[in-house]
Amino acid sequence: MEPEKLPEEFVQLFCAHHSEKYDCTLCDNSCCFQSGFAVLENVRLIYHLYTEGKLVREGFEFEPGLEFSGFVGTYFDAVPINGIIAYFPRHLAHEDSLPLRLPPKPDTNYYTYRAEILGNPFEDCRGCVFLESSMSHKDRRARRCILHDESRADYNYAKPIDCRFLTCSTSRRVKPPLPSLEQRYFELLRKHYGNHETALLPK
Ligand code: SF4
Ligand code: SF4
Repeated sequence: MEPEKLPEEFVQLFCAHHSEKYDCTLCDNSCCFQSGFAVLENVRLIYHLYTEGKLVREGFEFEPGLEFSGFVGTYFDAVPINGIIAYFPRHLAHEDSLPLRLPPKPDTNYYTYRAEILGNPFEDCRGCVFLESSMSHKDRRARRCILHDESRADYNYAKPIDCRFLTCSTSRRVKPPLPSLEQRYFELLRKHYGNHETALLPK
């Protein structure tokens, strides 16, 4: 299964948003204590890596033999946001054994809810399940994303598209997009990646 080219509109949008001060390829993804979201195309490619035995990380084994829907249900929270289904990678918690479920909560901003849980030391969060090894609240040194592939930069490949949209300000803090840019981003996501099967939504 091969990824498709990243539409030129996304390339331009990423260029407009990305900071020249920090290079994600040098930083090795220290933002992955919160994580962005994948679109279904990313999830299919991640599953493909899984079926080929290429999803390998330290200290945690992905459950073997899962069908696609079981894989999605185990390692992602599918959340309707701005007219698309966003697939947020689960985070490990509690001695690395448990992908933490963070399904959407009625009448609650999902980003706020997620940040509260993942930022809560008592949840003992260890970072995104696709990090090469676990972080902790005490040790947030950067780890590499096992999905990252520099040679696929022109494609919408396995690495979640929203993780690729992230960038840092000079203060090495993730820079929020301007509201107009964010609006455009979701317009493009709906246009190019909006045909998601509702069957994959949480029940
Ligand atoms: S968004 Fe910032 S913290 Fe995350 S990988 Fe890029 S430079 Fe590093
Ligand atoms: S998928 Fe990769 S880049 Fe995105 S949060 Fe997880 S480890 Fe970080």
